Amino acid sequence: MTVLVLGGAGYIGSHTVDRLLSKGYDVAIVDNLVTGHKESVPAAARLYVGDVRDKEFMRSVFKKEDVEGVVHFAAFSVVPESMKDPLKYFDNNTYGMINLLEVMNEFGVKNIVFSSTAATYGEPEHTPIEEGDPQVPTNPYGQSKLMMEQIMHWADVAYGIKFVALRYFNVAGAKADGSIGEDHAPETHLIPIILQVANGQRDKLQIFGDDYPTPDGTNVRDYVQVVDLADAHICALKYLAAGNKSDAFNIGSATGFSNLQILKAARKVTGKEIPAEMAPRRPGDPSTLIAASGKARSVLGWDPQYDDIDAIIGSAWKWHESHPQGYATK
Ligand code: NAD
Ligand code: UDP
Repeated sequence: MTVLVLGGAGYIGSHTVDRLLSKGYDVAIVDNLVTGHKESVPAAARLYVGDVRDKEFMRSVFKKEDVEGVVHFAAFSVVPESMKDPLKYFDNNTYGMINLLEVMNEFGVKNIVFSSTAATYGEPEHTPIEEGDPQVPTNPYGQSKLMMEQIMHWADVAYGIKFVALRYFNVAGAKADGSIGEDHAPETHLIPIILQVANGQRDKLQIFGDDYPTPDGTNVRDYVQVVDLADAHICALKYLAAGNKSDAFNIGSATGFSNLQILKAARKVTGKEIPAEMAPRRPGDPSTLIAASGKARSVLGWDPQYDDIDAIIGSAWKWHESHPQGYATK
């Protein structure tokens, strides 16, 4: 039996494939390589290059593979891009989910673990955010993911397809040996951008907004290490395989760091100066996002190993130092 990982050549997907293989799972990947890297795919995983929205292609994969469960990472996830081009997000993300569920239903595949996001909550009413809190996205990316959660709910009601939605907060870091890591082009995430400045690939960091209602005026985010996050997917697959009900779980650390605190930690970890300047707010950014993450621990048995931000940034730095041009410089 095989776990089919959609988007398995991407940042989080590649770390999850690595962890699945290390735990003895048989793994197949679907990825159109729009943002992913075939260099990140290990020989032990079978890669099918194609689009989740292409129904004939998806049927051909489900015919070849004996799929016991699906892990669905394949999506666009850049908040500012979604503000400029929302339909691109509803097409790739939301329509992709409809197509996937139709094919899963045709082939009788009943379990899916899904990459949801803190962006489905929007600007929270209180902190930390609980899973039952209102989901009112402030950007089309978050809206596209909320719609995917809702579509999965109705697919469960109608077809009995069980899902776990993992609502990731901010993901960072890399495999401890630095052999796989984050390589987005263009990069938009805070920690890799800071490390590209540390590497000399960028002149300076721009911090988007210093007038938020937070202790130092910059946005506060909750960071989870990517290998810990990968393991949450394995916990979720086991939870579904045991016949449990569909549910959503926050995946975060319950600790918030401001953008200035992240910069300070990165200066310490890298020993580099990392020039930075304040810049205007980035449209669509909520002020503070911190997860209540007890439910994933108690229900899924998730046991994250990284508990400090220096170690998370340190794992990312190992990847960036050894791969300054990402997968282009192995
Ligand atoms: P990524 O861009 O590195 O990975 C996405 C992968 O999906 C890529 O390999 C891409 O080529 C593939 N893909 C995209 N559209 C596809 C399609 N239509 N058909 C086939 N393949 C397709 O992104 P990531 O940072 O690894 O994020 C993975 C998932 O996690 C996304 O769904 C994202 O929304 C979610 N997420 C990420 C973060 C984060 O901080 N990185 C936070 C919350 C949620
Ligand atoms: N950010 C920033 N400068 C950058 C990139 C990001 O100040 O060059 C800020 C961004 O405004 C947000 C935080 O860093 O407050 C985290 O952003 P990221 O894009 O990494 O993740 P998001 O929270 O949008 O998922």
